[in-house]
Amino acid sequence: MQIKLYNSLTKTIEPFQPVETNTVKMYSCGPTVYNYAHIGNMRAFLFADILQRVLRVVGEYPVRWVMNITNIDDKTIRDSALNANTWKSEMGSQSDDPIDNLLKFTDFYTKSFIEDINTLGIKAEDFEAMPRATDYIEQMKGLITDLFHKGLAYVSEGSVYFNVNKWRQVDTYGKLFKIDFENFKPGTRVDTDQYEREQASDFALWKLKKPGEPFWSFDLDGQNCDGRPGWHIECSVMEKEILGLPFDIHTGGVDLKFPHHEDEIAQSKAGYGIEPTLFWCHNEFLEVEGEKMSKSLGNFFTVRDLMNKGLNSLDVRYLMLSSHYQSVLNFTFDGITASGKARQRVQDFIYDIFDNNAGSESADAVSLKNRVYEHLGNDLHTPQALAEVFSFINNNPAKTLNSTTRTELIEFFKDLNRVFSVWEINPRAEVEILIPQNIKDMAEERLKAKQEKNWAKSDELRDKLKADGWLVKDNKEGYTLEKI
Ligand code: AMP
Ligand code: ZN
Repeated sequence: MQIKLYNSLTKTIEPFQPVETNTVKMYSCGPTVYNYAHIGNMRAFLFADILQRVLRVVGEYPVRWVMNITNIDDKTIRDSALNANTWKSEMGSQSDDPIDNLLKFTDFYTKSFIEDINTLGIKAEDFEAMPRATDYIEQMKGLITDLFHKGLAYVSEGSVYFNVNKWRQVDTYGKLFKIDFENFKPGTRVDTDQYEREQASDFALWKLKKPGEPFWSFDLDGQNCDGRPGWHIECSVMEKEILGLPFDIHTGGVDLKFPHHEDEIAQSKAGYGIEPTLFWCHNEFLEVEGEKMSKSLGNFFTVRDLMNKGLNSLDVRYLMLSSHYQSVLNFTFDGITASGKARQRVQDFIYDIFDNNAGSESADAVSLKNRVYEHLGNDLHTPQALAEVFSFINNNPAKTLNSTTRTELIEFFKDLNRVFSVWEINPRAEVEILIPQNIKDMAEERLKAKQEKNWAKSDELRDKLKADGWLVKDNKEGYTLEKI
């Protein structure tokens, strides 16, 4: 089916066509691995996940999906520094070598990141590669040297900067984002990796080493520039090296349009002579009370926080997928509860479809599938796709449907679940209900209290479990837990 996508470059919804007829090459800006990713970040990765799944299932394309790991930037360097209080014993012991420390620190958070996306149903095997910036330093130096030779980069105090003013005489700077050039002073430089000023400045391609920080040797035409790459150059290089240019789709959150993606476009076009990608796709924010969820505002939850509260990861995934990626999503716990109910409603219908007591009514499962795919292919309209499913469920009680329709529906839900991945496509009895860890812990604590004849405590814990939706039934072996 023809897929349509909103392209931030043209600011319109366009029919999607890959460069090579039969494969989609997609690059997603990945995590900066200096801490556990929060669920705001996860919205960006779940958006990329649903996009690559729709391309595979609805568009029937093979997808080469690459997500980079930003392991060199201001924050990873700051937090991996010798004796920083952010160091954990699981990372191993620190050494005198700052690069070694940087790798131990960031590999720890890369591993955690892969565990966390896995918890939310993003499969590691769907990626062709997850390149680390530190593995592409030589190629970064190569691109910077080319930009320097073309007169589009200059050295100032050992750091190398991209000359925005010169580039503007060649091509537009500000293709994705309206940049304020009114107060633009050519030659103004910015050093930090992430800057929110919506004003153009020459940005760092490479930064001079600072005492105690990791650095790589770099001789730029006889000038000593030992130091480390800037954040933007990392993506320009990794995407070109792995996917080749141009590739088809580049994803990231809206906050990356400027400066990160503008700078990526400028560097790649200036250095390689070609823009990175045909489609730029950006997800909106996950907010908390009207503000972007972010580390710096402190208003964030990690995936681990939510799991420790006993939430079901499938409900979290469903919540993120049930709103359109281009609308702001306000995070609340009530929202997760409502998602859980909606997800369960579909799940119950699927269980009922497997029941043997078929009725005599038929329903048009083929047209349901067509409508749902139409919405998914139309710029990933997941909410409308789900609305079609609910409307079908509401109008066709499972027990009335005949066995042919049931068979067709099972096939449909199997396909739909390749996109959403939030349901069990099995008969009810075969499904093992997952008991959250905090519930298991509470039940164990209650058993212990009972063995110690602390009846008050054991009753209190039984009530607590009940309030959380779990019934404890005692037996000779101990107890069982049943979902109420
Ligand atoms: P970072 O690890 O900060 O480089 O961010 C990783 C990804 O998360 C980027 O694509 C960001 O645009 C995205 N992102 C960060 N905060 C949010 C948020 N609150 N909602 C949605 N996406 C976000
Ligand atoms: Zn990037």
